[in-house]
Amino acid sequence: MSQSIIGIAGNMIHDAGETLYHLPVSYIPQGYIEAVQKAGGIPLVLPIGQPEFAKTYIQQIDKLILAGGQDIHPKYYGQAESEDSRYLICRDQFELALIEEALRQGKPIFAVCRGMQLLNVYFGGSLYQDIEDLTPVNHMQNPIPREEPSHDLLMENSSFLYPIYGKKAKVNSFHHQAVKTVGQSLTVTAQCSDGIVEAIENKKQRILGVQWHPDFAYSQQEKEQAVFEYVVNQL
Ligand code: MN
Repeated sequence: MSQSIIGIAGNMIHDAGETLYHLPVSYIPQGYIEAVQKAGGIPLVLPIGQPEFAKTYIQQIDKLILAGGQDIHPKYYGQAESEDSRYLICRDQFELALIEEALRQGKPIFAVCRGMQLLNVYFGGSLYQDIEDLTPVNHMQNPIPREEPSHDLLMENSSFLYPIYGKKAKVNSFHHQAVKTVGQSLTVTAQCSDGIVEAIENKKQRILGVQWHPDFAYSQQEKEQAVFEYVVNQL
């Protein structure tokens, strides 16, 4: 059996700090790389580039992963900028082009945290720009370690991930934004106990978005590695 090539859309930082001589760098958190490798896939990092590159990039890969990171610029869902958010519009534009092209070429998409929110926005949905005052549940779980689950996950039995998590489980949480209105042709397949959307899917187009971070916990929690096994081998 040939190994799947899993494209992972990269991030960029303008100043990588002292260890890296304050250089601007392209990067992807190591968790995605190792979890994909462990699942038998070949990760291929796609650095942020011009949206016109999307077609060529998507042709090289079997599946696409969209990772976590910055807030999406609210102009993409008809809202105004918020003061304390940081955006990277070139990343938004590039990843929206990757989504469009992946759909066109029929390649499955797995999206984490910001990635899930971007999928929702791509399909015409909107976001809450800050959920802190909306719920008593802490969705930004610091200082609880990232590999530890912190809140409930209530899952529909129609979910791709139901065989892994079942009806009720626990997952980690590192987000201050969330899905507000759900994008067209997407289905909410998991929520937290407070109603915050934790997973969206489209069965036919093989699209899966999760609000939690399997990439933070894959080496400690079997279920989180199982998500990558599912993505690499079945999605
Ligand atoms: Mn959460």
